[in-house]
Amino acid sequence: MVYGSGARITTTIHPLPGFVKFRGVTTDRPPRSGKARREFDQSDALLRLAALPDARDLQARAALLEKAIAAGDPRRFQAEGELILGLLAQTYDIGRPRLRVLGARPRSVWEGGHSELFGDYDFEEKRIRIWMRTAVLGKVTSYRGLLHTLLHEFCHHLDRERFGFLATPHTRGFHARVDDLYHLALATPPEDRRPLVWIRMGNAWRIDWSKLRSPRTRG
Ligand SMILES: [Zn+2]
Repeated sequence: MVYGSGARITTTIHPLPGFVKFRGVTTDRPPRSGKARREFDQSDALLRLAALPDARDLQARAALLEKAIAAGDPRRFQAEGELILGLLAQTYDIGRPRLRVLGARPRSVWEGGHSELFGDYDFEEKRIRIWMRTAVLGKVTSYRGLLHTLLHEFCHHLDRERFGFLATPHTRGFHARVDDLYHLALATPPEDRRPLVWIRMGNAWRIDWSKLRSPRTRG
């Protein structure tokens, strides 16, 4: 689950049994009317990024990020993360957001569940924060999880600085844009990439896991 409040937007994820945690994706509910609703609808419809960073450059920088994570080194993570953010900011002709890398993730527990904070983006400071370690065991989060969080938070910055989506809502378009950058960074072969399949859930959407889970068995 992901939600925004005030001047900061946060990414918390409810673990789904047997599946990659950061894939626990739902959209926000659309605002009822007005400018916020128009921006929401525009964000929802913007399924592709017209411009993408140079693939080799992004992949080379992502490989360095992976090494920094493997070493469990927050300073290196920060430095390599800034290089990725620099490339992305240059691609979209916007300022580079700041980055802070922190330790164990804040965790909220309630009856019947829990969530962990993976990252957030501060509107005023134009600053991304990423928590590098799991809340309970203090283990370093997977490379893919951290890369995904970094790109997710960058897309909030991109929404506000480039597209004028000031509330930077989690729409289907938002998640599709993150997905584009994520698979470009990982150099995912096109045949291994599956479109995000959404199921309606009231007036929001969630991803259909059954469609994503068995990519090679589908026609
Ligand atoms: Zn978010």
